[in-house]
Amino acid sequence: MYRIRLHGRGGQGIKTAGRILGEALFLEKYEVQDAPRYGAERRGAPIFSYVRAGKKPINERGIILHPGLVVVADETLIEIPAAGVFQGIAENTVFFICSNESSDFWRKRLGIDSQIITLSQSEEYDTALDFHYNSSVCVGAAGRLLGVISKESLKQAIEEELSVFEKTVIEKNIEISLKAYDELSSYEGIVKRGVGISADSYRRLNWVEPPFEGADISAPAIYDSGTSELALTGLWRTLRPVVNKELCALCWHLCGSFCPDSAIYLDEDGAPQIDYEHCKGCLICVMQCPRRAISVEAEHKKTKEAKGA
Ligand code: SF4
Ligand code: SF4
Repeated sequence: MYRIRLHGRGGQGIKTAGRILGEALFLEKYEVQDAPRYGAERRGAPIFSYVRAGKKPINERGIILHPGLVVVADETLIEIPAAGVFQGIAENTVFFICSNESSDFWRKRLGIDSQIITLSQSEEYDTALDFHYNSSVCVGAAGRLLGVISKESLKQAIEEELSVFEKTVIEKNIEISLKAYDELSSYEGIVKRGVGISADSYRRLNWVEPPFEGADISAPAIYDSGTSELALTGLWRTLRPVVNKELCALCWHLCGSFCPDSAIYLDEDGAPQIDYEHCKGCLICVMQCPRRAISVEAEHKKTKEAKGA
């Protein structure tokens, strides 16, 4: 059975990448499982999706602990232990990292014996969100490394899974995926099928019982009302909504009505203002504004500007 884990950040298309890979394997007549695993509810948080594929019915359930292929769409996750990129890896685990650094760079830096393959990050951007199409690179790369997915199946899977998008978006994803697929031709089939894991090998975890803490210690601030103001959720933000006053029609405040954090208020002129201390960057307001008056900027650019870099 093939066991593949794809790591990325919320909003980078990792869940869709897993679905495309699963669909492509299904088209190649494999039994398939694919599912995403989310962390915190926000863009930019580490997430992963996983895909199992075999020629027999798959009885394994749950997240993949011993992957044959680990795909990393965002190299910055490698330094975050909570992202779990290295969880359960073995010597025969193949790593694909979407990175402008070489395989040797990562091999030395990580000090692991696993096969590491890199491909440059996509130069293409989703101009609306300022994101690379790295997930498309990953899908094409994974397809080639498995060695059992044809170009036709990959293309068909992308068309089916992205069918709600415009034709140009689908074509861009196909182009980037197939480019990665072509570039890794010398690594075709490098990922080996893993053996089935027997239920007999299940080992009970050594649970640690933390000492009980009274509510006054473990949650000291929740006795007061209106405490959400104390949580500065603006620190979560990786993308920043910006209201364009020229385009805003001062409508019936749709943006603020849908904001889950009540982070949009009206100033004395009745114009929407964003409270960046509490805006977590979910971008619901961007989607709701009928005038498309709220644009999106990458937070890291804003931070650099503020530092004068
Ligand atoms: S202001 Fe917009 S992006 Fe920020 S939390 Fe509210 S809806 Fe989300
Ligand atoms: S939804 Fe759009 S047009 Fe309406 S107040 Fe908000 S920014 Fe302005």
